Amino acid sequence: MKLLIVGSVAFDAIETPHGKTGKILGGAGTYISIAASYFDTKPGIISVVGNDFPTEYLLNLNNHGIDTTGIQTITDGKTFFWSGKYHDDMNKRDTLITELNVLEDFDPKVPQNYQNADYLMLGNLSPIVQRQVIERLEKRPKLIVMDTMNFWMDIMLDELLKTISMVDVLTINDEEARQLSGENSLAKAAKKILTMGIQYLIIKKGEHGALLFSKDAYFSAPALLLDQVFDPTGAGDTFAGGFIGYIAKKDDISFETLKTATIVGSTLASFTVEKFGIECLDTLTDHKIMDRINEFATLTAFKKPESL
Ligand code: AMP
Repeated sequence: MKLLIVGSVAFDAIETPHGKTGKILGGAGTYISIAASYFDTKPGIISVVGNDFPTEYLLNLNNHGIDTTGIQTITDGKTFFWSGKYHDDMNKRDTLITELNVLEDFDPKVPQNYQNADYLMLGNLSPIVQRQVIERLEKRPKLIVMDTMNFWMDIMLDELLKTISMVDVLTINDEEARQLSGENSLAKAAKKILTMGIQYLIIKKGEHGALLFSKDAYFSAPALLLDQVFDPTGAGDTFAGGFIGYIAKKDDISFETLKTATIVGSTLASFTVEKFGIECLDTLTDHKIMDRINEFATLTAFKKPESL
């Protein structure tokens, strides 16, 4: 197995200015693995669900070529549930409910066929669980990418910092970058976070694009203007899945490849926000993805003046 993904597989209930859902399939691991599956990486996922989790959801992941043998089912447990409500400015949302349920005592097990993974994507989960997965791998992957959120900064910052120091790439949003660094300017925030033990930092700016920082360079991915942003849930996770999926397929961790991967991740995320949950992400084709990557290329191309 080339790409290993760890992340929540969940039920979500979402409210946006466009409508409301009941309990639907969600979870960071779900979005990441479906997005990554478009790069022929046949990823494996480590997660946990309860006995209330429908088999058809697991089969859907399998249909994308995702190996789900690393998803434990706790027979007397309930699946993780998250509910969120977006403001009219959909860059802002309130978490209404976080019921950790089976995630509370999650003891991640790495199946033997997942050992030797070259790439590891740690989706948003407890930093203790994220670290356990790194420690339980017999060989360190070539690249470890980690996503996290303000929830963990609020309740276990020390554990979070310890895990951050063990990974190569951290992906967070602009508000979280400010919270983690205590700096208001994103440039200063990035500089500070890059001293926490990582090589690269990605700051996601919702509908305004994403920034990729190394210690001595940065790259800015623009935002596509979409006709309709319907539900931003999972955009960050989809970004991460597209990002690591592309890198795993290219099997290259140069800054140039990371730049392209940032565009590819943004492309995948732009589909997720067009419908509720995984609805849009679930049915992509290479053709649809390439068309949108081309839109990004057009958006960023400009003629450099010879002189002023
Ligand atoms: P995003 O919109 O990219 O921040 O991710 C939303 C997804 O993250 C939802 O599908 C949730 O199920 C999942 N999620 C939210 N909070 C947590 C948490 N504390 N731990 C793990 N997954 C979470």
